[in-house]
Amino acid sequence: CSAPEVRVRFAPSPTGFLHLGGLRTALYNYIFARQHKGSFILRLEDTDQSRVVPGAGESLEDMLEWAGIEPDESPRRGGPVGPYQQSQRLDLYHRATEKLLKSGAAYRCFCTPQRLELLRKEALCNKQTPRYDNRCRHLTPQQTEEKLVQKSPFVIRFQLEQGVEPFQDLIYGCHRHEVASVEGDPVIMKSDGFPTYHLACVVDDHKMRVSHVLRGAEWLSSTSKHLLLYKALDWTPPQFAHLPLLLNKDGSKLSKRQGDIFLEHFAERGYLPEALLDIITNCGSGFKENQMGRVLEEIVAEFDINRVTTHSALLDLQKLPEF
Ligand code: GLU
Repeated sequence: CSAPEVRVRFAPSPTGFLHLGGLRTALYNYIFARQHKGSFILRLEDTDQSRVVPGAGESLEDMLEWAGIEPDESPRRGGPVGPYQQSQRLDLYHRATEKLLKSGAAYRCFCTPQRLELLRKEALCNKQTPRYDNRCRHLTPQQTEEKLVQKSPFVIRFQLEQGVEPFQDLIYGCHRHEVASVEGDPVIMKSDGFPTYHLACVVDDHKMRVSHVLRGAEWLSSTSKHLLLYKALDWTPPQFAHLPLLLNKDGSKLSKRQGDIFLEHFAERGYLPEALLDIITNCGSGFKENQMGRVLEEIVAEFDINRVTTHSALLDLQKLPEF
């Protein structure tokens, strides 16, 4: 029996424009797809409608195209769909939520914003990390029914199970995050009918037959939660590879407020995409360092995921030629 097709995705939120950190994540996914003769998909995670920046989705596509990292399946390349846009796929998330409600893995939570705020303040007063106390888990079907008849607004929460199984990350090795001990049950469906990131991400990775999730290490602690969702939905999870963070040379976080990390800024100033690929790949993390001037095909051929360590990559913008 042959190995399943490799399918990876780059899943930015169109809440801003493409910057070097995003380009790096996209590049890893693109390389992984090309090395395994698989597909690289673009998915716009726009479920938080209040944060969507008009034009950001299109600009992300433009910038990927400019950098030569074009998604497969995109109509721009003669493909049938794309980019996948979560706001157009609400039905799928509602169906998954129904399944979770039916099996008892999810429940309706009618707690008011005032109650949640009170919980938060109490926790902070006691020098504890705020978390939902899972109160609505214990509503009887009759109490839930009464609230529904009264038309009380609600969200849907996923019931976190104790006893998370460890998983094997392709980069971080054996990893496990005991979510239920540190977090309250997460909201998976908001009162506006839009899912939250966790549910939408799991549903889409499953429906899009994503075989490997390559994403930034900041999502490592979310993965145990995602694995609990896969289990509750009775779906096989993909493999995970969390990429070490990309930081400034001094170890500080890249900030989107730093205008100089956006691709559009570089393109406008006349930089070639190859210069940006050089700067990203010369931070190590799976690439040989001090290899300037390579074309994308050479980068694809040279990359070895087994060489990626968990050390953060440090970005040195001074290595870019001055204009
Ligand atoms: N929308 C998330 C982001 O912008 C994607 C996280 C993931 O790849 O699962 O980083």
